[in-house]
Amino acid sequence: MLSLPLSAPSAEPLSVLTIGAHPDDIEIGAGGLLLGLAESELRARYVVLTGTAERQQEARNAARSFMPAADLTVDLFDLPEGRLPVAWGSVKEILEGVARSCSPDVIIAPSSDDAHQDHRTIGELVPTVFRDQLYLAYEIPKWDGDMSRPSMYVPLSASTAHRKVELLHKCFPSQRDRDWWDEDVFLGLARLRGMECRARYAEAFRCAKSVIVPSAPTLGTSREEI
Ligand SMILES: [Zn+2]
Repeated sequence: MLSLPLSAPSAEPLSVLTIGAHPDDIEIGAGGLLLGLAESELRARYVVLTGTAERQQEARNAARSFMPAADLTVDLFDLPEGRLPVAWGSVKEILEGVARSCSPDVIIAPSSDDAHQDHRTIGELVPTVFRDQLYLAYEIPKWDGDMSRPSMYVPLSASTAHRKVELLHKCFPSQRDRDWWDEDVFLGLARLRGMECRARYAEAFRCAKSVIVPSAPTLGTSREEI
């Protein structure tokens, strides 16, 4: 299996846009990836569409905990949880507003295949607003049993996988009583995805479209010049 490095296409730091329907989505789906990206210079925009004041505070803390040294911008909204399909216009306007003010290299967001209506709404809208980015759609284990076939894997070391779970517990105390919120679920899925890519642990993503350049462009070369 050939590994493709995820690095900035220019001399600027890698720019990442993370989007969640609910506080904790981003960290459950891509916390390990964020911990890895944050080891290098990183510009991150962190957007969550729903959340009470308590949960928004958790999201704020989590964004900083998972990306401690990043140049970080956090945007939190309070659209109605569980009802994003009927707030379709507001979701689209928020995403369009984000698109006007930042041009990320990578987008980490829910999948259009997700069984949760809020996740799915965002997953359906992201590619209609952002058309020139690598879009990695994360997966979130849930009662609905909607795990699908990923197309990209991010191997995680044991220490990163355990650090992710430790931070999930620490950053989202309001979720600890949920029957599905436990280390076995998070590490079990990571171990399964790790087995699929010959690593101990991994996070997996769906990527509907990617562009491969046969030879590495010189730093600063725009896509039009390739
Ligand atoms: Zn969610």
